[in-house]
Amino acid sequence: MLRQLELVERVKSYDPDVDEDALNRAYVFVTNAHGHQRRASGDPYYSHPIEVAGILTELKLDEATILTALLHDIVEDTDTPVSKIEELFGGHVARLVDGVTKLSQLELKSERSKQAENFRKLFMAMSQDIRVLLVKLADRLHNMRTLRFISSEEKRRRIAKETMEIYVPLAERIGLHRFKEELEDLSFKELNPDARDSILTRLGFLKEKGEDLTQRIIDRLNRDMAEAGLEAWVSGRIKTPFSIWGKMQKRNVAFEQLSDIMAFRIVVKSVPDAYQALGILHSRYPVVPGRFKDYISTPKPNGYKSLHTGLIGPEQHRIEVQIRTREMHEFAELGVAAHWSYKEGVPNTDGRQYRWVRELLDILDHASDPEEFLEHTKLEMFQDQVFCFTPRGEIIALPRGACPVDFAYAVHSDLGDTCVGAKVNGRVVPLRYQLQNGDQVEVMNSRAQTPSPDWEKFCVTGKARARIRRFIRQKKKSEYMELGREVLHRKFKEEGLEATEKGLAGVLGKFRLDGVDDLYAEVGSGNLTGREVMLAVFPGLKEEIRKQKTEPLEKLKPKPQAKHHRANGIPIDGLIPGMAVHYAQCCHPLRGDRIVGIVNTGKGVTVHTIDCETLEAFQDMPERWIDLSWSDDPEGASDMQMGRLHLVVANEPGGLGNLSTVIGKHGGNISNLKFTNRKPDFFEMLVDVEVRDAKHLVDIIAALRATPAVSTVERQRG
Ligand code: MN
Repeated sequence: MLRQLELVERVKSYDPDVDEDALNRAYVFVTNAHGHQRRASGDPYYSHPIEVAGILTELKLDEATILTALLHDIVEDTDTPVSKIEELFGGHVARLVDGVTKLSQLELKSERSKQAENFRKLFMAMSQDIRVLLVKLADRLHNMRTLRFISSEEKRRRIAKETMEIYVPLAERIGLHRFKEELEDLSFKELNPDARDSILTRLGFLKEKGEDLTQRIIDRLNRDMAEAGLEAWVSGRIKTPFSIWGKMQKRNVAFEQLSDIMAFRIVVKSVPDAYQALGILHSRYPVVPGRFKDYISTPKPNGYKSLHTGLIGPEQHRIEVQIRTREMHEFAELGVAAHWSYKEGVPNTDGRQYRWVRELLDILDHASDPEEFLEHTKLEMFQDQVFCFTPRGEIIALPRGACPVDFAYAVHSDLGDTCVGAKVNGRVVPLRYQLQNGDQVEVMNSRAQTPSPDWEKFCVTGKARARIRRFIRQKKKSEYMELGREVLHRKFKEEGLEATEKGLAGVLGKFRLDGVDDLYAEVGSGNLTGREVMLAVFPGLKEEIRKQKTEPLEKLKPKPQAKHHRANGIPIDGLIPGMAVHYAQCCHPLRGDRIVGIVNTGKGVTVHTIDCETLEAFQDMPERWIDLSWSDDPEGASDMQMGRLHLVVANEPGGLGNLSTVIGKHGGNISNLKFTNRKPDFFEMLVDVEVRDAKHLVDIIAALRATPAVSTVERQRG
């Protein structure tokens, strides 16, 4: 275990200005707080956080990170509250410790391996400060180093699997190659010890046989570069057992010679030098086809840059070579941090490395310059998502702003359809509640429930919205079907005929429909009339029916359940069944006008003419608009509608009498009349007239304009 003085000296070596007192206090505090707790190894528990801090000093991380590492298990494993840490070490460190504690708690919630990808995203999203993630990774690294002390094999395997699935990719994502390789190898050791041992044995054998093969190849490549006048540093090593194993699995080959599993690296001073080094190699050695990769022009998603190539190299050995600049090399080993160090113009210099972490953190804190920092964007990538748990610990990823209904649909369509309420973290919340990262959501459902059109207003996922809309359409269709069936059967009965399924099925082709139900729906919605269908089924009836002057409409009186499709008895297409409908009092829409509906919570739908001034107030609420059109259903075609006129009439004897005579003569019926302004010369008034449709009202307006007593006449709008 790292002694107190050693730890402080290590941090001082790269940060001479570090607050030694704080480090000393934290060291003593953590020793006392964990007291007599023990690790599986028998060591005192506090040796663990101290080792974790030690690991992070190797990355030359800042004071706050080292303090957080020391204190990372305090809240979880002792009765020390976060407030105590704040009091002793400040709010900054307390927040970081709190972040690590939250990650540790989440860790316990999900043990299901298929959740790994979501879990990694959750970690990224929750680690808003990258230091939280760094401490968590170092914590896992130390736990893996001491994994052998855990006696239960099952537990060891579970931890190793979790490491492989969650922490290795996380380390890779932030470019911490050093952690990634060690975590990978430690997991491999637990999960497949036989494979690892056999690879190590084979490696040992090949090394003995090949002696200093690696060094000979390095020397030769160095000479190649020097002869071409290029300044370069060549290194080489045997790949890790896990990566050899992965290669063997992927290509289904065993390795026969050491060169199969050696990796060489050429570090140069600049990007043009890198391409020159590549040119030197490719002109001196045969190239293995398909192995060349240019990650300089197209970096990997985690920011990794290098040139990769495969050669039949010196002494006819197949080798792999990576070519990169020093900056790229730093980045490849340590990730995001290295990216910052070289911008300072002081690559690979002791005492400077921790700086880039500071700068990175600064950027994360203030989000001032995102395009300059790759990893920043990567964290951001997950900020538009929320990750929630089912009661069984599965993680559901949803877009930010999602509600419990979205969650229910994401779990299962049926659960969404029947959802009546939700509990989040044990408390009942409204369905429009916005889910937060880490929420545990329990959906309450009832078989009696069906999707509500209201849900569409606060659901954000495509799946939920599509299901709700589909349900509304289907429900509407089934109501139309019922109505259409009734209409058809009556119509046929009137003529002493029977509407059989077979007979109706025979005419589907004529109407380009797929099924009898569709035919019913078409009739119910007014796209087809009963008469059209009857004539199609019994073409012989044509002559006879044509003799009848009018269609006996009164016999097709709407059924009660058809009422709610209608506004004041006039059918409108596009309405949601079950919603109350009324005409706007501002514009008094008439059949023939272009119309839209505006949804009013609790009041149903108001029908406006498309040019009504009132609509301006709803410009910014597209979700409240519904497209409507007048149905051409024969039912209700003769119903009267109310239109409103604004008139200015001369104040002279017989003026008003004239007015009512003209309206009456043209088939209009005055139902209301109101004076809005009365002057010595003129009356200004509103007149409500019952008319058949918009065109009827236009006829009346024209007639009024031709009347001498009428000065102006307009339809009232808005
Ligand atoms: Mn720990």
